[in-house]
Amino acid sequence: MASKEGNPAYDRLAPVGRVTLVGAGPGAADLITLRGQRALAEADVVVYDDLANADLLEFCPAQATRIYVGKRAGRHHTPQEEIGAILVREARQDRHVVRLKGGDPLVFGRAGEEAQVLAEAGIPFEIVPGVTAASAAGAVAGIPLTQRGQASAVVFVTGHECQGKPDETAVDWRALARTRATLCIYMGVRRLPIIAAELRAGGLSGSTPVAVVTQATLPQQTVQVGDLDSAATLVTALSGQPALIIVGEVVRLAEVLTQARARLETLPV
Ligand code: SAH
Repeated sequence: MASKEGNPAYDRLAPVGRVTLVGAGPGAADLITLRGQRALAEADVVVYDDLANADLLEFCPAQATRIYVGKRAGRHHTPQEEIGAILVREARQDRHVVRLKGGDPLVFGRAGEEAQVLAEAGIPFEIVPGVTAASAAGAVAGIPLTQRGQASAVVFVTGHECQGKPDETAVDWRALARTRATLCIYMGVRRLPIIAAELRAGGLSGSTPVAVVTQATLPQQTVQVGDLDSAATLVTALSGQPALIIVGEVVRLAEVLTQARARLETLPV
C-alpha cells in the first residue's frame, strides 16, 4: 500500500482550496441552477469546455482565471488526465476551482473520474447537479419521458459504445428493446442506423416513433420526428451538433403537446 507520508497529494499542511463540479445545464444559460450560479460567482478559476454555454462565464468575477479544456478546430479534447491534473494544481494553490460541465456532471460527464482524482489528492469537492440533455430534449419537444400507461421507465444510454466491445458495459440494444422503456440516447447520431436495426431485432416495431432533438434549449434547436424504419434519414444532415435521440411510444405525444402549445400561443390575450 502506498504510504501517505511524503506524498504531496496527502500533504495536509499544503494550502488546499476546493473544487465544485457544476452542471451547466443543456444549453440556455438560464438553465443552470442557482447553486451552480453561486459557485461561479465565488470562483477563482473556472475550467470549461464546449458543451457548457460560454455566457455562463459572465457569472464569474472579472479576475477569475478561465481555463478552456475543450475541442478547438483541429485540436483534440484535453486528455482527461490533464484535466484532473489542472483541477488538482489549481486547487493546491488555495483556490476555489469551478469545473463547469454540460448538462448534469454525472450523466456521461466523466465528473465521476474527476471526483476520484480529487478524492485521491485529498481535495474537498462538491457536485452541483444540472439539467441533463434528456430532460431538456423532452421538455422542448413536448415529450413526457414517462407517461402513465405508456412508459414506466426511462433509460439514459450512450450510443457511442464501440461495437463488439468485449467488456460488460457494451450496450445490449436488443435487451433494451424488450424493456419498452423510453430510451434517451446520448452521443448516438453516428450509430443511429445500427442502433435502430438492433432495436428492431430486439422486437420493437419499425413504426416505433423516434425523435431527434439537436441543440435543445438553444436558439438553433431542431426537433425531428420519424420512426425506427426512417431513423437513418433523421440524422443524415446532422454534422457534429449535440443531439439527443428519444425512442418510444411517448414520442407520439410530441405532436399533441406541440399543437396544443401552438394553439395557446395564437389565442388573443
Ligand atoms: N453531461 C451531459 C451529457 C454529456 S455527453 C448531460 O447531462 O446532458 C454529450 C451528449 O449529450 C451529446 O452528444 C448529446 O447527445 C447530448 N447533449 C448535450 N447537450 C445537448 C443539447 N443541448 N441538445 C441535445 N443533446 C445534447
